[in-house]
Amino acid sequence: MTSALLPTYARYQLAFERGEGAWLISTTGERYLDFGGGIAVASLGYNHPHLVEALTEQAKKLWHTSNLFQIPGGETLARRLTEATFADYVFFTNSGAEALELTIKMARKWNSANGAPDRFHMITFEGAFHGRTLATIAAGGNAKYLDGFGPKTPGFDQVPFGDLGAVKAAIGPQTGAILVEPIQGEGGIRVGSTDFIRGLRALCDEHKLLLCFDEVQCGMGRAGKLFAYELYGVAPDILASAKGIGGGFPLGAVLCTAEAGKGMGLGAHGTTYGGNPLAMACGNAVLDVLLEPGFLDGVARKGLLLRQSLAGLQAEHPDVVAEIRGEGLMQGLRLRVPNADFAAAARAEKLIVIPAADNVVRILPPLIVSDDEIREAVRRLGAACGHFEITATQDSKQGAST
Ligand SMILES: *Cc1c(COP(=O)(O)O)cnc(C)c1O
Repeated sequence: MTSALLPTYARYQLAFERGEGAWLISTTGERYLDFGGGIAVASLGYNHPHLVEALTEQAKKLWHTSNLFQIPGGETLARRLTEATFADYVFFTNSGAEALELTIKMARKWNSANGAPDRFHMITFEGAFHGRTLATIAAGGNAKYLDGFGPKTPGFDQVPFGDLGAVKAAIGPQTGAILVEPIQGEGGIRVGSTDFIRGLRALCDEHKLLLCFDEVQCGMGRAGKLFAYELYGVAPDILASAKGIGGGFPLGAVLCTAEAGKGMGLGAHGTTYGGNPLAMACGNAVLDVLLEPGFLDGVARKGLLLRQSLAGLQAEHPDVVAEIRGEGLMQGLRLRVPNADFAAAARAEKLIVIPAADNVVRILPPLIVSDDEIREAVRRLGAACGHFEITATQDSKQGAST
């Protein structure tokens, strides 16, 4: 049967019916260990009792009212996010791309409010991913995503990730902000160095630019801190969040300082669904768990266990695994075999991992994953490596017998 869905995805021949913790159960009853989390979204795994209760209780009361009215759950979640971070204000969206659109608009508006509307340019980085709207594909700069969609939205100047010299050279009279993922996700789990991220902060301070972090993938506990900026000891002016923040319910957020948000007064931005009662119930429930004492330390500790286990995997399979990189429960394996083939081999071992650029597979387990599940996943990764080594072993056996 052909599909009536617009064919923009090459979907696997696999569908899931339900999930439990770090496990997905397919429509044919097979159990998969999910170290992809729907691309870093299922931060608390599947069927988490606290999330299910929060969503179903809210579902019985009220789904949607619009932002014409007070939304108490949104007031609460915004207050909690500001108390836990650098931010003074929060705006809720439905997705990562929308959070990035607002980040871009806010940076432009701040410069405009400062009397410099021509400073609408942003410096962005090669390998970045910021979403699929017209502005965010221009910010990401991936030629494949831009092709055929008309003139590229102006105002984005791209330089190599990690290259402070190139950033400095790119700062011109029209530059108003810098936008960066501290840890690139789609780009292949590339971790910004401390010198690089701190250097960006210093450049922004020196040139009066806004520093904007896209933490849609690396934030909300994934890197072992509530937000990855905490790893670097510097804060951004604006931060975009999404993916894990709703635990699977569509939710994004923009966090900002009062200064960065000063141009965004009455009517400057809006959304119909953003921050509706259902989303706020889920967002508050996710944050309840993340802020439980010891939870984020546990993520960092499990990140180390995962990292050590992956180092063992690389030592055993140096012909398949070229490099391990990441932070916390956001790890990547750069491979010597095609990453899509490797992800398929992992699926054959009932393990889900997700391809990214630079021939990487991403390992993004739910933050509630157990130590035993981490060991089991790495065992399955080892079995997946075996798919690429069997031919070599058979060849050498054949060689020995003739
Ligand atoms: C996924 C992602 C986005 C886009 O989020 P959507 O919810 O798909 O619009 C933006 N930035 C980063 C870093 C992402 O990983």
